[in-house]
Amino acid sequence: MKLKTKIHLFSTLLMLVILTLTNTGIYFVYGKLAYDTEYNQLKTQSQDLIASLSQMTEKTNPATVLHAYRPPNGAVRILDPTGKLKVESESAEGIRSYHPEIKPGERYSIGEFDNTPILTMREPVIWTDGKVVELQTIQLLSDVKHNLSLLKLILFGVTLIAMIPITISSVALGRIVIQPIDNLIKTMSQSRQTGTYEKIEVPAEGKDEMAQMGHEFNDMMGQLESNFKKQEQFVSNASHELKTPLTVIESYARLLSRRGFDDLSVAKEAVGAILGESIRMKDMIEQMLHLARNQEHVAFKFEETDINSLVEKTLQPMRHAHARDFILEGNGSVVVVTDAEKLRQLLFILLDNARKYSEREIKTTISKNETSISIAVTDYGNGIPKEALPHIFDRFYRVHEDRNRKTGGTGLGLAIAKELADGLGAELNIESSVGVGTTFRIIMPKKQILTDF
Ligand code: ADP
Repeated sequence: MKLKTKIHLFSTLLMLVILTLTNTGIYFVYGKLAYDTEYNQLKTQSQDLIASLSQMTEKTNPATVLHAYRPPNGAVRILDPTGKLKVESESAEGIRSYHPEIKPGERYSIGEFDNTPILTMREPVIWTDGKVVELQTIQLLSDVKHNLSLLKLILFGVTLIAMIPITISSVALGRIVIQPIDNLIKTMSQSRQTGTYEKIEVPAEGKDEMAQMGHEFNDMMGQLESNFKKQEQFVSNASHELKTPLTVIESYARLLSRRGFDDLSVAKEAVGAILGESIRMKDMIEQMLHLARNQEHVAFKFEETDINSLVEKTLQPMRHAHARDFILEGNGSVVVVTDAEKLRQLLFILLDNARKYSEREIKTTISKNETSISIAVTDYGNGIPKEALPHIFDRFYRVHEDRNRKTGGTGLGLAIAKELADGLGAELNIESSVGVGTTFRIIMPKKQILTDF
């Protein structure tokens, strides 16, 4: 069964049950009130009759008194102590044959006569001869019966009429709830069939759960699409970037096989080039694997880390490997909660770039302000053109001049650096001007700092 039909059936049935229960309640309450009113009226009448009977003398004809007080649609009877009828006056046809069954100790009974409810009251009366007799006042409740059947009819009619708007509103409710879900299903199956990332129409001003669901769905589709495009871009960039060193290797290998065995200098050049490109390719593949692993959200191990000694430990091997001045500024110790290994990796990328793209000393500064601690790596080299800055963290991006220059980069270092910084909860900023130099700054929020300088 469709959800729309389920909602429709459920809400209609629920309203029908509520209406039926309410109407039944009204019917019974009205019935009880009507019987109570009749009872009170009959009681007053029989009290009046008892008062008149008590004033009777030997000469008074009891039938006349009874006749005067008999109810308009019933009878009055006097029964002697043995239960034998003494005198009776009736105003309803055939009522003489009606013998009520009143339980001992009870003052009244409601029975049925001729398919009509009938109320009988009994009262003890002292008769003219001094004996206690029983006065029965009997009243046919035809009006109550008639009113109750009319009420039944009205309530039934009201229920039927009320069901019309209820049915219409439950159908409308079903539509309101189902429409967005229907749209969602259609859009999803269309996306699956066409392989595209379709979005659904959501009213801009809509704030309800359905609109929220639509917005969430569209956001999710947008994210999926952008991730897919990024993956596609990555794969095409990666294959393109790997093709260049492979072409170089292939052409040098051909040269080697053609002339390398005769000419030692050609052989040396070819082997050198093949080795260089192989190393570059190996680096690139390692970096690509690193990026892919980072995307799988490799767990970061956060622990208390002394930033000064971490930076010093990173600078030391750089000083050994390259004939360059690596200066550290900032004193005292700052303990930060971070992943030391990942932070070292990030620093290493920045220091290696500073070395590659400059000739002079490289300065690393640790500083702190109200809200954060930062590690800045400054070089006095080429600088990065303004128009290149927005792309500097993109995968495989290299500044045009460096692409042509043989610095041997892959364009993946800063992309990895950015992902490492994100994982560490740090910001990675850049300031650069062409011909002056570049500063990369890792900014860690203060909540990660444990001790002051
Ligand atoms: P690469 O392997 O090419 O160094 P990166 O992602 O580390 O890749 O850097 C991307 C590009 O950004 C580099 O090719 C270079 O053009 C530029 N770049 C990075 N760091 C610096 C720097 N310190 N000074 C000047 N240019 C830089």
